[in-house]
Amino acid sequence: MGARICVLGAGPGGYAAAVRAAQGGADVTLVERENPGGTCLNWGCIPSKVMITTAELLERMRRAEDFGIQACSAVRPDMARLMTRKNRVIQDQIKGLRKLFEHHRIRYLQGEGRLTAEGPIAVTLPEGGHEAVDWERLILATGTRPTSLPGLEFDGAGILSSNDALGLDHVPASVLIVGGGVIGCEFAHILAALGAEVTVVEAMERLIPLPSVDPDCTKVLLREMKKRKIKCQLNRTVTRVDQMGEGLRVEIGASPFLENPSVKDLEPLNLTVDCVLVSVGRRPNTDGIGLEHTGVTVDGHGWIDVDEHLRTADPRIWAIGDVLGPDHMMLAHAATFEAGVAAANAMGAASSMDYAVVPNAIFTAPELATVGLTEHQAQQAGLAIRAETALFRSLGKAQVIGEIAGQAKIVFEEDTGRIRGVHLIGPHVTELVAAATLAVKQKMTVADLADTIHAHPTLAEILGEVALKAAGRPLHS
Ligand code: FAD
Repeated sequence: MGARICVLGAGPGGYAAAVRAAQGGADVTLVERENPGGTCLNWGCIPSKVMITTAELLERMRRAEDFGIQACSAVRPDMARLMTRKNRVIQDQIKGLRKLFEHHRIRYLQGEGRLTAEGPIAVTLPEGGHEAVDWERLILATGTRPTSLPGLEFDGAGILSSNDALGLDHVPASVLIVGGGVIGCEFAHILAALGAEVTVVEAMERLIPLPSVDPDCTKVLLREMKKRKIKCQLNRTVTRVDQMGEGLRVEIGASPFLENPSVKDLEPLNLTVDCVLVSVGRRPNTDGIGLEHTGVTVDGHGWIDVDEHLRTADPRIWAIGDVLGPDHMMLAHAATFEAGVAAANAMGAASSMDYAVVPNAIFTAPELATVGLTEHQAQQAGLAIRAETALFRSLGKAQVIGEIAGQAKIVFEEDTGRIRGVHLIGPHVTELVAAATLAVKQKMTVADLADTIHAHPTLAEILGEVALKAAGRPLHS
């Protein structure tokens, strides 16, 4: 038998690390306190995308007449069936993961793990009692949980976390979403399509204010959210919440990040809503896991410190996934990729993680997807770059499917034409970003992409269009 490796947490980071370590010949124990699949499968990517699938179908069915269909009655969601479908998808995936663990002879132990001064991990079993797990190498993949704000503590009824929102048994008439980041904007799309009146409050000057997200894409998103009657309050924050009858009375004031607010900015807005969904970030599951018995260090917020090999300050311990915090990428596919690196290193390799080409897929309406550098990031890196944009409305396929909003922006080096970033908003761009990722990863030039034949009529033609424009050979613009 190979090294005894324990993996704590079975999300997309932890379970992939367990599989990779087992494939490498290690004797692997995987410890998970809830269900395999972690946040991604149980409280994140998968359930939210099940709800988004229903949201998209509802939006499309409401436009049936545009497509030459006489709809007999108004469509409306059936939350009980939606939740049943969501739970079935999750359960099917969980079954698949359990089979995967069996196949790779991974010992899967259900229970809450805690490092001890004596050495072994003490696992509190759901049925009561403890089990000690011996280990030589440890991979920490304990992920995160939703974080609330003072005065907005989750209660599962009026003040909701994203976990609560994924289990709604009815559509609230009105919702205030605090935080216009990825999760907030995805829920705004879901809840508005289900029939709720939605207001989003974002403290920064734009939606999804991540450095990797192109500001022009978020402008398009804001416009399209307004078309869906989602109200967005930018540069604002919730200053007070009071219970009022069955609902909540919310006061919205100026954001503390707003420099030189005008009198109008400082004027509070008041509204009454059924519930408030708080999506302002996540906090690491590093408290209470016994890190004090190891050499592992964390930063001021509790995120685990690692080097480029994902090794912690304790040479026997590696860490991966969301528990590394926002300086790394808090995405399921980043966690899974890190898993391969950490598992290899725990078995003696010296791999390192490259974050330069990690795509980001955001399931708003329309979808948003990015890979590589934005113009601002490229300039900060000292690159002489140019950018070109092509609009989806110029594509036959976009017209055919009736989804013409959106654009593709390509960021490339001025002298060599090397593609440094691609920023997409529009129909199915979370699929199209795969081709853009390959182009950035393979250091392709705009000429390489322009000389690649894209099938017609497809949405992928947007990549050919924008590359042709960048190469100085525009066809439709
Ligand atoms: P997690 O998935 O959080 O898994 C950690 C696991 O560790 C959990 O199962 C937890 O129970 C377990 N654990 C913690 N402590 C212990 C302990 N002491 N003992 C035993 N087990 C323990 N990412 C995307 O890439 N695409 C998306 O579309 C997307 N959508 C999202 C939507 C929502 C609403 C949310 C909340 C997140 C979304 N994410 C998305 C982010 C994605 O879910 C995370 O990046 C991913 O789950 C991180 O994986 P992880 O393995 O690091 O941690």
